[in-house]
Amino acid sequence: MEEQDIARKAYTDLFGEDCNYSFRTVYTGRLKDYGAYVSLSGGLMEFKMSRKWYSISPEIQMGLMQELILKLLKKKKHSMYIDLYNTFVQNLHIAIPKDKNDPQLESSFNRVNERYFLGLVERPNLMWGQFATRTFGSYDFKNDTITISRVFKDMEDTNYLDYIMFHETLHKRRKFFKSGNKTYYHDARFKRLEKVFEGGEQIEKELGRAVAREKAKAYYRNKKDKAGQLKRKVFDWF
Ligand SMILES: [Zn+2]
Repeated sequence: MEEQDIARKAYTDLFGEDCNYSFRTVYTGRLKDYGAYVSLSGGLMEFKMSRKWYSISPEIQMGLMQELILKLLKKKKHSMYIDLYNTFVQNLHIAIPKDKNDPQLESSFNRVNERYFLGLVERPNLMWGQFATRTFGSYDFKNDTITISRVFKDMEDTNYLDYIMFHETLHKRRKFFKSGNKTYYHDARFKRLEKVFEGGEQIEKELGRAVAREKAKAYYRNKKDKAGQLKRKVFDWF
């Protein structure tokens, strides 16, 4: 099937009729693995798809396109292809290479996995993200990666790191729970499961302060570094 036909077929299968849109599909290396989006301009519906999609079966691609079309047109519908796509995405993590790791993060993951998941969760890719003080962590199921803010890297109390790791591992464990076209990441059941973490409520209370402390430490570290550089520059001059 030609790529343009996949998109058109996705549309007509969904609505049972042809349309006046024209379709274009572009596979690109610029998007994250298995990322995709659709845009509509002057009757042209254009799909930008991660190159990874190119070798995936047209039926699964159609499901992805249908999800994107429904989001774009703010409509709700079900289809066999959407089911296929969802099953594919939920099992993606199995085939994804685990090539990102870090000893500190791995220790944290192992502690959390042993204690709360009976060691049953397969280790995802683990990496430090930016020094972010609002978003502490994230789980991306499309590349099976848990990213943790660098804020936690130098904290003496590893409990905070473990708490965030637990939260993200819970996301991996549950993947996502679907109801219609909506995805609930932090639904009531998630919140209940999250309470299992020992001392979680206390950590939740202290987290803001702990992060502020790290922020201050980083600030002074930075200042010192800059002062050092300045001194060196002055000496270079002489
Ligand atoms: Zn979350």
